[in-house]
Amino acid sequence: MARPDTPAIQAQAVRVTQTRTIPIRGEASLGKDVRDLLHEVGTALDQHRPLRAHVHGLITVDKQSPVVTATQENGNERQRATGPSARSWKRAARRQGAAGGPWAPSTSSRLGGDVLRAPYECQVKRLAEAYPTLQTFSDDDGMWLFAKSSIIPGLPREATFLIALPYKPGPGPRAWGFWTGAAESSRWIGPRHTNFRDGSICAFSPNEGAWFEGGDLPTLLDLYSVWALRHLHLEVMGRWPGKQYGILGADPRAEAYYRQRECRDDELCGCGSETRRYAECCKASDLRCDFIESASLFLQHTGGFETRVPPPSVVSFVQGQSAAPKMAEVHLQLLV
Ligand SMILES: [Zn+2]
Repeated sequence: MARPDTPAIQAQAVRVTQTRTIPIRGEASLGKDVRDLLHEVGTALDQHRPLRAHVHGLITVDKQSPVVTATQENGNERQRATGPSARSWKRAARRQGAAGGPWAPSTSSRLGGDVLRAPYECQVKRLAEAYPTLQTFSDDDGMWLFAKSSIIPGLPREATFLIALPYKPGPGPRAWGFWTGAAESSRWIGPRHTNFRDGSICAFSPNEGAWFEGGDLPTLLDLYSVWALRHLHLEVMGRWPGKQYGILGADPRAEAYYRQRECRDDELCGCGSETRRYAECCKASDLRCDFIESASLFLQHTGGFETRVPPPSVVSFVQGQSAAPKMAEVHLQLLV
């Protein structure tokens, strides 16, 4: 297989025949090479095989490592994903983004307790080697990261992430993903596996060891890149690849309602099963739940599906229409 670090953009001669859930505006049909890679990674996610992240956030199946990486879990799901040992960077090209310039430390931390400042500051250069489009912006409460990820070789669009990294321990990172590129006018990536109330990325759980506050920033962006790849798979192939989990801390009836609304029959069941598809796992019992009661409990716990939208100031920034938002105004855990 060609090295993913130096992808060759090949002629797109094969028409896409599978149904898409969302039209890809202005984008030529994905070529067979891209679709094959997407299918390959999706299959690996379903089979819990390790992936490998390359420079620019290109994700491939890790065919070299015999070691299965630790299970990753997020607020709603688990995923096999990349880890520091799985990363393979061939190049370290770095260029500073024009809009934000190099990161500079802010002079104050509004909330104090900025013990995470140093662990993050010292990683910025290395992160820019992994994600060369990286721009950083200082904020009273931490640091913003803004970076693009190529996802898979040959993909005409890219994923752009805006990530809030508070310096205060506890709130954790908050990130939003958008499809951008020549044919894309920044389209939010969601709503599947985004957080309720702000549409932020739900790509791992802080209590499962996938990533921890103050931890490896390239790994954090790799996890977001894999999450974006899953979204691409959902859009093109019609199903979410890999393991899925329900809502942490929710009533089982609310979970049942969530699965009914979100899980497709041929996806791995949202209860966290590693082998059973929804139609052959929890679907029958979910359908026996009282619908009104389940929906009500779900609404109480989450605020509802329609709350999964990004804050306007985040959208405005990604569209180049405003400066980076104030972290305290868009990060839910900083608001309380
Ligand atoms: Zn199940």
